[in-house]
Amino acid sequence: MIDSDVIRAALRQQLESDRLLGLRSLPMQPPPCVKRRALRRTEGTPADSGAASANAEPLRVLNESQVKGCTKCGLAKTRTQTVFGQGNPEARLVFVGEAPGFDEDRQGLAFVGRAGQLLTRMIVAMGLTRDDVFICNVLKCRPPNNRDPSADEILACSPYLRRQIEIIDPEVLVALGSPAAKTLLNTAESIGRLRGRFHEYYPSGRTGVGPSIPLMPTYHPAYLLRSPDEKGKAWTDLQLVMQRLGLPLPARGATTGG
Ligand code: URA
Ligand code: SF4
Repeated sequence: MIDSDVIRAALRQQLESDRLLGLRSLPMQPPPCVKRRALRRTEGTPADSGAASANAEPLRVLNESQVKGCTKCGLAKTRTQTVFGQGNPEARLVFVGEAPGFDEDRQGLAFVGRAGQLLTRMIVAMGLTRDDVFICNVLKCRPPNNRDPSADEILACSPYLRRQIEIIDPEVLVALGSPAAKTLLNTAESIGRLRGRFHEYYPSGRTGVGPSIPLMPTYHPAYLLRSPDEKGKAWTDLQLVMQRLGLPLPARGATTGG
């Protein structure tokens, strides 16, 4: 039973990482047993019991009472709607991107465009689904023409992100791309130099003060779409995250990276 789970998980991950690396395309869903084990942080809670999530309500209140009507920066004037982020309020793993793009602004959901589709494949390659994790951005509103977020906008908006992380209190954070990594780590270091190892995110907002959450910076999926040769590095980063979460890793040598 356990053995066949392990073999199945290894096989699945070999195929999924191949797919992430763009080597082949195979339609495949993780078996529910593996999904469930990876999914729930509360041991003994049946996955489909519909048990209320303690974090859902404070997240909802944050969104409804603060984010949705926010006018703290100029992006309030150009957005269609705010994009709070979505996923499992009890997630062990939170992905943080940069800002909504065209599709996200239209749909009100984070990472639903082309970059989002690659992010989905990356999550599936980890043996998870989007419902297992929480996905959000530094900015909750789309910058016009997807221009880079300004320092002022990040300053105005990042308290919402910090509060989201405080509520969810994940075991690991993944910063997708430079603005997320720089914002959360309070550094000017480039993503190329930050990625590949864990850093510490301090919910207190002061480096070295209070408890910290391990944070893995990696390349943004939009960058990976433009530079597919870097996918292997992102996959290496995500495997370190899997290891940290105790998720089954693909068999050694299973990935033949790009
Ligand atoms: N890029 C981001 O950083 N976030 C999204 O939600 C979509 C694209
Ligand atoms: Fe408010 Fe953030 Fe939107 Fe600016 S980007 S208006 S700070 S929610």
